[in-house]
Amino acid sequence: MYTSQETPEHEQVHFFHDRKSGLRAIIALHDTALGDAMGGCRMWPYTSFDDALKDALRLSKGMSYKCALAGLDIGGGKSVIIGDPMKDKTPELLKAMAESINQLGGRYVAAEDSGTSVADMKAMQEYSDHIVGTTVQENRLWEQNDGDPSPATAYGVLMGIQASVMHKFGKESLEGLNVNIQGLGHVGFRVAKHLAEAGANIYVYDPVPERQARAVKELGAVAVSASDVVTKPADIFCPCAMGAAVNSTTCEQLDVAIVAGAANNQLATSEEGRRLFERGILYAPDFVINAGGIIEVGMGRKGESSDAVNSRVVGISSTLLEIFVRSDADAIPTFEVAELMAQEVIERARNKSIEPRAVAARVTNPQDKTALAL
Ligand code: NAD
Repeated sequence: MYTSQETPEHEQVHFFHDRKSGLRAIIALHDTALGDAMGGCRMWPYTSFDDALKDALRLSKGMSYKCALAGLDIGGGKSVIIGDPMKDKTPELLKAMAESINQLGGRYVAAEDSGTSVADMKAMQEYSDHIVGTTVQENRLWEQNDGDPSPATAYGVLMGIQASVMHKFGKESLEGLNVNIQGLGHVGFRVAKHLAEAGANIYVYDPVPERQARAVKELGAVAVSASDVVTKPADIFCPCAMGAAVNSTTCEQLDVAIVAGAANNQLATSEEGRRLFERGILYAPDFVINAGGIIEVGMGRKGESSDAVNSRVVGISSTLLEIFVRSDADAIPTFEVAELMAQEVIERARNKSIEPRAVAARVTNPQDKTALAL
């Protein structure tokens, strides 16, 4: 079992078990200094409870950082349902999950994620007010369907790739660049489409043969193998599948100038982030470049205008440029710069929410340097 020492950064971690439906789920709230937590509800056939817990902890922390650097007043949370979405998902289980979310009284708001769909979120909305990502929004820069955040995420990734290319190669156009795309799901296929439309040459791999065939047929992509998508020399490696695409092995195999894609937790460990930096490969931190979906869903829920949502997603490129510039100036890896910037935003929010009385007490203590920052 995990102890509080192993989850020192998380505000709350809840485990839910519903005997009738068989639900086993974890809801992790990483940090709510910026606002109530929001994050996907993932369903996955985890092989152990520990794996599920680790995923919930890692992903909820990523959400805190993602919201902070996207300028959202939303905290970081994530829920995971332990089970096979193809076999174990039932209306009773979704109802039990919605009721579990209700027990947190709105401190956690759920959206679709791997293994869940917009239809599942709609089913859960029958029982809970704390579910988002089911409404079609008007006048976005990206195509709209049924409330799925993937189009906004893919558009944000395009913005991030453009910023990376601008920083690394000093050019605006993606014309003629070679991009290896790993994963052609909800986000990956749309990223591939944007890149093909921008004139890039795309090399794609997905274990589902129909997805790969569709990209070849509709986008003029070149299908490559699981290993070639990593090792083939290219300008950009674009991970859009599951986490740890850049691990101790692939990190050394990559023959690219830029790593920029949609996947969460692209770096297996911090070590790979440092290694990319040493190798001169520009890494667009995952929680910055893939924030389009949370911007869409989070700002959409508050009824913010399309102009505001569009410009916030476009703004992913300027946030990345700032990170790249700081990384060069301070000679530290981009992921470390992004983490520091996110922590600064969260810390500022936390300090602001301190009761005035508590602030007064601390200001009277000249030893308390933190009071000066308030
Ligand atoms: P998805 O499940 O629709 O797509 C994932 C794709 O990856 C599938 O087509 C799958 O077949 C493929 N895949 C699995 N293993 C692979 C491998 N070894 N090599 C290549 N492809 C492989 O998921 P998605 O919604 O497109 O999300 C993709 C990634 O982006 C995930 O890491 C997700 O957490 C992250 N992300 C998604 C969103 C969003 O709005 N959907 C937002 C932020 C981050």
